[in-house]
Amino acid sequence: MTPTPKTALTIAGSDSGGGAGLQADLRTFFACGVHGMTAVTAVTVQNSLGVAGFSEIPVDVVTAQITAVAGDMGVNAAKTGMLATVEIIEAVASTLDEVGIGRGTQSHVPLVVDPVAASMHGDALLRQDALEALRTELLPRATLATPNLDEVLLLTGVRVSDGQSQREAAQALLELGPQWVLVKGGHLVNSPRCVDLLSDGTHIVELGGPRYETEHTHGGGDTLASAITAGLAKGLGVPDAVSSGKRFIERSVAEAYPLGAGVGPVSPFW
Ligand code: PLP
Repeated sequence: MTPTPKTALTIAGSDSGGGAGLQADLRTFFACGVHGMTAVTAVTVQNSLGVAGFSEIPVDVVTAQITAVAGDMGVNAAKTGMLATVEIIEAVASTLDEVGIGRGTQSHVPLVVDPVAASMHGDALLRQDALEALRTELLPRATLATPNLDEVLLLTGVRVSDGQSQREAAQALLELGPQWVLVKGGHLVNSPRCVDLLSDGTHIVELGGPRYETEHTHGGGDTLASAITAGLAKGLGVPDAVSSGKRFIERSVAEAYPLGAGVGPVSPFW
């Protein structure tokens, strides 16, 4: 019999095109050797050209998925992605407390919060009134928050343009309550390297890596956050989980492929 692997839960939206969202999370969990579980929050209608619309899952169904798997199978680490509405964010936050996931709970199962607000095409994945709930309900429960630069601007008002403003952004995010923040530099297009900043207020780690020339980066943020979540599920500390997640996303971006008429996904094939 195969020994039971570690488990990781993603609380996220579905991408019908299979490039991002829970589809990216599940295949990343698989590739990283952990058993993936899902609490679906919303179903997007989406292809390589963008998101045509989405429909949220009823709040009680979202929370029931979390309690069903946490009570029976156990969760070694969890991740949130697209949460769509205030109601879903509030209900997920209190359910995480009930099942002991996240900062401040007794068991403190690691929680990665990827504060998804919009697709790379600019399509909203979070209702406008839900940003404050993300700030006040979810970020304080995060072991690690992984915003991209657009999300940093929305959450803190800090526009990151260089290393100095990246540090200011990390500090502003830490004031919202996560234990660690990873301010991703991947969207700083004029920089020849891709430098991410990881900080818990005491330690500051700069993680540099090559910038790959590809337009096909759909699902990159989800893939990085779920690779980090898999590392945490396997018992790595945050800095080691982030380094291994970064190696995973670098390979995935290097092998990204065209699909459809728009933006193709980062690749699970390597
Ligand atoms: N669709 C869903 C369901 C997502 O969760 C995300 C990102 O988290 C996206 C789309 C957007 O991905 P991208 O910004 O790579 O287009």
